[in-house]
Amino acid sequence: MDLRAYIRDVPDFPKPGITFKDIMPLLGTPAAFAFAIAELAGHYPVTGIDAIAAAEARGFLFAAPMALTMKKPLIPFRKPGKLPGATHSFKYDLEYGSAELHVHSDAITAGARVLVVDDVLATGGTMAAACQLVERAGGTVVGCAFLIELASLNGRLPLAGYDIFSLLTY
Ligand code: AMP
Repeated sequence: MDLRAYIRDVPDFPKPGITFKDIMPLLGTPAAFAFAIAELAGHYPVTGIDAIAAAEARGFLFAAPMALTMKKPLIPFRKPGKLPGATHSFKYDLEYGSAELHVHSDAITAGARVLVVDDVLATGGTMAAACQLVERAGGTVVGCAFLIELASLNGRLPLAGYDIFSLLTY
């Protein structure tokens, strides 16, 4: 199945010069969405992974069905003020300002092997922060999985040392 047919390029969104990869056609086509999840989940040996994590918000759309498919716990990384319990957090810089991800302190057991998932690998900043949070919480990153990689943005650089898998590379 050609998943590229379900990714829509939106020029100059959210600002001039950015070509936004819109995944809504894929999400709106169950056969394509199911195929993407099966391909992502099928890339990993089920025995080597203890949990699936993702950063809010679009990462959840892929991490949740992967967690169900792979029969692994799902660990959502949330923005500040969303989680009711004690948390570990990691603050990171964006192009403008900064952002912060939180995870419940008891969500990742010591040494847990965590697969981190997101929709798009652009500059890699979001995934690098998510990986830092896994490690701060006591886990080990076994891989970073993406539906889409935008190769020209060199997002692999801040993820040096991690195993990276992207279903579609542009
Ligand atoms: P990154 O620069 O890798 O930290 O990307 C941050 C987040 O922004 C990713 O998780 C994507 O969801 C989103 N993103 C960045 N660039 C694009 C793009 N060109 N199209 C769609 N989503 C994007």
